[in-house]
Amino acid sequence: MLHEIGPHKLYNEFRKQAPKPNDFLVVYVGDKSLLKKNGESYEIPRVADFNRESIPCHYLFSIDDASYFLAESYVSKTLADAMPEEYVFCPTRTYRYMGDPLLRLGGATAAHIAHWESLNKCCGRCGNITVRSDKERAIICPKCGNTVYPRISPVVIVAVRNGDKLLMAHNIDNPNPRLFLISGFVEIGESLEQAVHREVMEEAGLRVKNIRYFGSQPWPFSDSLIAGFTAELDGDDTIHMQASELSEALWVKREDIPEYETDVSISCCLIENFRRGN
Ligand SMILES: [Zn+2]
Repeated sequence: MLHEIGPHKLYNEFRKQAPKPNDFLVVYVGDKSLLKKNGESYEIPRVADFNRESIPCHYLFSIDDASYFLAESYVSKTLADAMPEEYVFCPTRTYRYMGDPLLRLGGATAAHIAHWESLNKCCGRCGNITVRSDKERAIICPKCGNTVYPRISPVVIVAVRNGDKLLMAHNIDNPNPRLFLISGFVEIGESLEQAVHREVMEEAGLRVKNIRYFGSQPWPFSDSLIAGFTAELDGDDTIHMQASELSEALWVKREDIPEYETDVSISCCLIENFRRGN
């Protein structure tokens, strides 16, 4: 999965440190990151690529001894404009398809933080200009004291089993035609397990039982933390699909499920887990 980079390690504790030439510099403007196009693939620019004596930026985190910095927003456009044409702005999902798992996690996590910072330039309570805390990863309003932490929205995803069949679905907004699992954001006032019951009922009109925790993963592409579960059908197996969310929802026999090769998402891990008979 995205976060599984062992034996390498993400050091995400708050620190203040100065950038070194070989560190990564994320330049983020309008929900996109500046990346260096190299043939069909993309690279995250290094501090040295910008060829400047000093760059206004702040430390985000490190993976092993490679640190990630985020360019201050007021200088980001100027930095990008001065770069050669192979440096282009790309959507955050571009990181997902990077071949190097360290760059995939590092880039997407940096973009997650950059997105959060971009949404909190002003205080949501009093409208004053905010500042970054110098003690923790937080944004503070110097006028009213409002403190905002990175947005990490919990999501549940569930593999619902009915004997040798798996409940699979296709979300109408997903350009990928493959079938995936029922998932959704946790609503206010409910537990993860209650969210599983509600999502399966809303999207497929089915009851479930024996909900078991499978694992979790960060999913920076939607500012989320995804909790994966398995569950069994409880009672009637007739699917009543929620047409406003899904274009397809059906029971798929184990032998009809193709291999889900990616090791990036917990969704694929849950499907593979069922396909292999676990
Ligand atoms: Zn305020």
